[in-house]
Amino acid sequence: MIASGNEIATIRHFINGKYAGSADGRMFDVFDPSTGKVYARAHEAGREEVDAAVQAARRALTGPWGKLSIEDRTRLLYQVADGINARFEDFLQAECLDTGKPWSLARQVDIPRGAANFKVFADIIKNVPCESFMTSTPDGRGALNYAIRSPKGVVAVICPWNLPLLLMTWKVGPALACGNTVVVKPSEETPATAALLGEVMNAAGVPAGVFNVVHGGGHGSAGQFLTEHPGISAITFTGETSTGTQIMQAAAVGIRDVSFELGGKNAGLVFADCEMDKAIEGCLRSVFSNCGQVCLGTERLYVERPVFREFVERLKDGARKLKPGRPEAAETDFGPMVSRQQRDKVLGYYKKAKVEGATLVTGGGIPEMPVDLRDGFWIEPTLWTGLPESSAVIREEIFGPCCHIQPFDSEAEAVALANDTRYGLAATIWTENASRAHRVAAQMETGITWVNCWFLRDLRTPFGGAKQSGIGREGGVHSLEFYTELRNVCVKL
Ligand code: NAD
Repeated sequence: MIASGNEIATIRHFINGKYAGSADGRMFDVFDPSTGKVYARAHEAGREEVDAAVQAARRALTGPWGKLSIEDRTRLLYQVADGINARFEDFLQAECLDTGKPWSLARQVDIPRGAANFKVFADIIKNVPCESFMTSTPDGRGALNYAIRSPKGVVAVICPWNLPLLLMTWKVGPALACGNTVVVKPSEETPATAALLGEVMNAAGVPAGVFNVVHGGGHGSAGQFLTEHPGISAITFTGETSTGTQIMQAAAVGIRDVSFELGGKNAGLVFADCEMDKAIEGCLRSVFSNCGQVCLGTERLYVERPVFREFVERLKDGARKLKPGRPEAAETDFGPMVSRQQRDKVLGYYKKAKVEGATLVTGGGIPEMPVDLRDGFWIEPTLWTGLPESSAVIREEIFGPCCHIQPFDSEAEAVALANDTRYGLAATIWTENASRAHRVAAQMETGITWVNCWFLRDLRTPFGGAKQSGIGREGGVHSLEFYTELRNVCVKL
C-alpha cells in the first residue's frame, strides 16, 4: 500500500471491509515531510463515500459484531494488537513517511502504543462492574435497581496528524471494546497508518463494517460530511480548539455526544530546589519531542530566578545538540514539521517574537540540510526570553519546537503565571520538595500535571483537558463513560 522507491502510492478508503476509491476520482497529495516530496495520493471522500461508510458501520452494529460475546470481542481486539505488532515495520515505515518523525521515536512510542491501546481497553471492559441497589418500596417487597452499559452506536473518530496511529487507536480501541462501530477520518496530512489498519482488522477477523476509514480534509470535505451525518451517534475528536468549536456546532444537530481533546499552551515550572540534570533532560523532551508537535508539550517555561541563567544556558546547549536528519538514521533525534503550511505558521511566530523584542537564545530559522532533504519542512529548535506575558508567542498555541523562558520569584507567582491561559491541558513541575510538588500540582488548572517527569502515561488514568483544552476524559474506565450508554433497569420484586 505504501510507495517503495520512487513509486507514488495510492491510499484508498476502507469501507465495509474493502478498500475503495472515491466515485468522483478526487484525490489529494500526501507529502514526505523530510524531503518535501509527494510520496502518495489519497482518495478524497465526498458525501457518497462517507454515507457508505456510516451505513456499513450501522449495519455492522446489528450483524455478527453486535452478537459477539464480550470474550470473543476482546479476543479480536487482542488479535488486532498482535496484528499491529506482527507488521511493526510496515506501520513504522508508513508513520514515518507521513510525519517525517525519527524512526527511533516511532519505534519507541507511536507503534507500540498503537498496539497497546487495543489490549488495555479489551482488559478494562472485561472487568468493569456495574452498580446495583436494593430499593425500598411502600409495599415492603422492594425493587432491584441495576445499571447496564450498551454501545453508543456508530462513533465518528476525527484525528490530527502529530501522533496519527497512537491518537487514532486511543479512540478506536475503547470504542470497539465497548461494542461500537467506527468511521475514522484521519488527518489529510497523515492517512497511511489508518489505511493500513484496515488490513490488520481483516486479518484479525473483525467483521466488515466495524472499522471504516474515509480520507479527506475538514471543512467542506470528509470531516464535515462525517460530523454532519445523521447516522453518527457520537463524535470523538482530537485537534485544534477552533476546529472543536465547528464540530460542536455540527454535533448540536441531533444532540450527539462529543469527546474533545484540544489544544494547549502548557507551562513548565522549574523551582530552584529541582534536580537540575533531571529538569534539563525532561524539559528538552517536553519542548522538542516530535519537533514540538505534541499537544502535551511545553511552550512556556517559568524558572525560579536563582537558577534562571544556568537553566537557560543548559537548555540552549541541549537544543543545539539535537540532530535533524533522515528519519531512518539511528543518530537522528529531531524531525521536520509535518507540512509546509505548519512550518510557515511556526516561522510566523519566530518573526513575531523578533518584532515583539524577544531575546533569541537559540534557533529562530531554518537549518542547513543535505541536498536531498533541503525541500523538507525543517525548522530550528528555538528558545526565547524577555517577552511580556501579553505577547502572542506566550498566549497562543504555536505547536512547534519552541519555548519562551521567564524567571519568577515566588511559588504564588509561578502558579499564577502557569494558570494565566485559556488552555488547561498539561503542566510540568520540577522540584525535589515533596510538599511543594503536591501543593502546586493541586493548584494547576490542567487535566494532567507531571512532577519530575513528562509524558509518563498510565493508560488507566483519566486523560483530557480543562478550560478550552477539551471536554470529557478518556483513558481507563473514563473512556467507558463516553463510549457506552449507561442504562438503569428497575425490577419490582
Ligand atoms: P485540526 O483541528 O486542524 O485537525 C484535526 C482533524 O480535524 C483533521 O482530521 C482535520 O481534517 C479535521 N477537521 C478540520 N476541520 C474540521 C471540520 N470543520 N469538521 C470536521 N473535521 C474537521 O488539528 P491538527 O492541526 O490536525 O492538529 C494539531 C492540534 O491538535 C493542536 O491544536 C494540538 O494541540 C491538538 N492536539 C490535541 C491533543 C490532545 O490530546 N488534547 C493531542 C494531539 C493534538
